[in-house]
Amino acid sequence: MHTARLRTRSFRRLLKTATLPLGIAALSNCGGTAPAPSVATPPPAPALSANVSAAPSKPVVNVTLASVGLDPLAIDRSQDPCTDFYQYACGNWLKTVQIPADEPAWSRSFNEIQKRNELELKRILEEAAKPGAADPVTQKLGAFYGACMDEAAVDKAGVQPIRALLDRAASVRDAKSLSAVVTELHAVGINPLFDTSPTQDADDATRWIANLDQGGLGLPDRDYYLRDDENSKKLLATYHDHIARMLVLAGIPEKRAAAAATDILALETELAKISKTKVERRDPKGMFNRLNRAGVAKALPAFDWDGYWKGLGFPAIQEISVTAPKFFEGLQTLVTATKPAVWQSYLKWQIVRSTASLLSKPFVDERFRMQQALTGQPELPPRWRRCVHATDASLGDLLAQPYVKDHFPGDSKQSAQTMVSAISTAMGSDLDALDWMDAETRTRAHEKLASLAYLVGYPEKWKAYDFAVDAKSYAQNVGRSRNYELKRELAKIGKPVDRIEWQMTAPTVNAYYDPQRNQMVFPAGILQPPFYGINQSLPVNAGAIGMVVGHELTHGFDDEGSQFDAKGNLKSWWTSIASDKFKAKISCVEKQYSAYEALPGLHVNGALTLGENIADNGGLKLAFEAYRALRKNAKEAVVADGMTEDQQFFLGFAQSWCSVYRPDFERMVVQTNPHSPPRFRVRGPLTNTPQFAEAFSCKQGTPMHPQNTCSVW
Ligand SMILES: [Zn+2]
Repeated sequence: MHTARLRTRSFRRLLKTATLPLGIAALSNCGGTAPAPSVATPPPAPALSANVSAAPSKPVVNVTLASVGLDPLAIDRSQDPCTDFYQYACGNWLKTVQIPADEPAWSRSFNEIQKRNELELKRILEEAAKPGAADPVTQKLGAFYGACMDEAAVDKAGVQPIRALLDRAASVRDAKSLSAVVTELHAVGINPLFDTSPTQDADDATRWIANLDQGGLGLPDRDYYLRDDENSKKLLATYHDHIARMLVLAGIPEKRAAAAATDILALETELAKISKTKVERRDPKGMFNRLNRAGVAKALPAFDWDGYWKGLGFPAIQEISVTAPKFFEGLQTLVTATKPAVWQSYLKWQIVRSTASLLSKPFVDERFRMQQALTGQPELPPRWRRCVHATDASLGDLLAQPYVKDHFPGDSKQSAQTMVSAISTAMGSDLDALDWMDAETRTRAHEKLASLAYLVGYPEKWKAYDFAVDAKSYAQNVGRSRNYELKRELAKIGKPVDRIEWQMTAPTVNAYYDPQRNQMVFPAGILQPPFYGINQSLPVNAGAIGMVVGHELTHGFDDEGSQFDAKGNLKSWWTSIASDKFKAKISCVEKQYSAYEALPGLHVNGALTLGENIADNGGLKLAFEAYRALRKNAKEAVVADGMTEDQQFFLGFAQSWCSVYRPDFERMVVQTNPHSPPRFRVRGPLTNTPQFAEAFSCKQGTPMHPQNTCSVW
């Protein structure tokens, strides 16, 4: 669940798609990883002019690439690093890696780490599920996982777990009964029409108010309904078919199901038309509209709002922000003009699609069929993986406790802290050196940097899960969990913001920056090789995890983050001169990335990915400066198979991004995700980094050292 109105800027592609959160969000595990490399002998030293300008007078210590934490066998030495450094650093890995059949993509870092994490979580859960667990935490984990793994019981229950909800959907006769059923569904985490959550007040980030967001779609984004190219039309046809099949599984006769699917698709298309685009949603000011209770009732009077807040258990909520006022105004027309029979079908569909993964095999398989059409993934992940993820989603902080005991060595916290502090120092020097920033704005930027906080490893305070878990009913457990989470979230409204609360679980292989808390968070899950390793050299750790830290820090100053002040309030701290110069700088980045062609005819969306690209560029630059500062007083220069420390830094960075995507998945990512595909996350920042060209002696005019470059931070 997203706790903040403005989604936190996560580091990795977190694809919580509207339709299919399960397998896609979990970029991971199982099956064939990179096969054994064919090279038996150590590769020769690179044909590069060794550049030891960082430490010209230091004695040289020669070691191997593997000993500093780099993968010599991933490198394709037939490639010129100045032509395409990603192909150079990852080329051989790309030639040999196979995407596991139950994955849409595979990466050398995120997926490999997550695969290890999942196996560990599986071990913990299998242990917990054994009879006789003494403590209540273990019992609860074991019961939840056990109920999920009991496929026979799940299959036997069939459609039964959602029967009562489907009957309620069939009771809709008018706007009033529609409101009542939508309320009941929201209470159990099924979200037709719109989404409700708490959000930090844009004008006072210390307090929570309510937030209403557009929603109610089954495809990953509004644009899927409105594009008319061949590929999109094919997907829409598959989606229509998918809805009809799901309705049949829910008990609707086949003949009526096809017509109902047509109605549902038409209704969702109308919802899509009144929804904001992903790029529009990147404007924080536009996303915050303080309508409050009266304003919401005025925008959509046909809906029973008093009944809604009361039904959710929060009748007194008054302060409400709306992300897309036009969406709620548009709903007024839809609510009054759409026939009750269409609402009945739409609600049934929303119930089935939100619960299919909890139901019997036919539902699970049908849900996967649609996922497959979107991602190209051939196989459903094995049940244990799905159950590990379900347990993480419902009882995350319980599962995290045994995990961090064994998998968060104290030194990784120390190391992350050292990295954060070195990178903050680098950002401070960077701010002083910027020629485009005036003194007033610079002072404010320093203030923001000084108050930027961070959390590492795992939360100080674990969340409680005060709901009953039944060892026999998986669907019921998830329903209770969703209801509990909704209440936990909405109960924040009117209360002060708790700055030590985490928005990711500790085993998650990711990181985020939250602009309204001016805070970055690095879960234990990401502080592992190849991002961070105690045996990896400092340049390699800096290129990998250091760049992650720099990336999150730069989010505080990207096109969105820069609109929030040191306290997390949406308040401009820029002079108009500095602001104009900043806009010109970021428009260079937008153009640079828009020119990248991900698939034939499909370019990266420079506007959608702008914040992430600014963060990648800033992150690499800051990590490099931090690494140089940390190695300044080193007594010797370490050369690894002929590679200087600078070269090791850039290789450490690039190799943490070696990734391969199925084409369908890549299409979806480019169309919906704010991150650029990994190869551009490597090429883009490197072409803008003069120290890279220097480290690998790339002549100006080579693809990796172009004439025109972009630089923001
Ligand atoms: Zn990011």
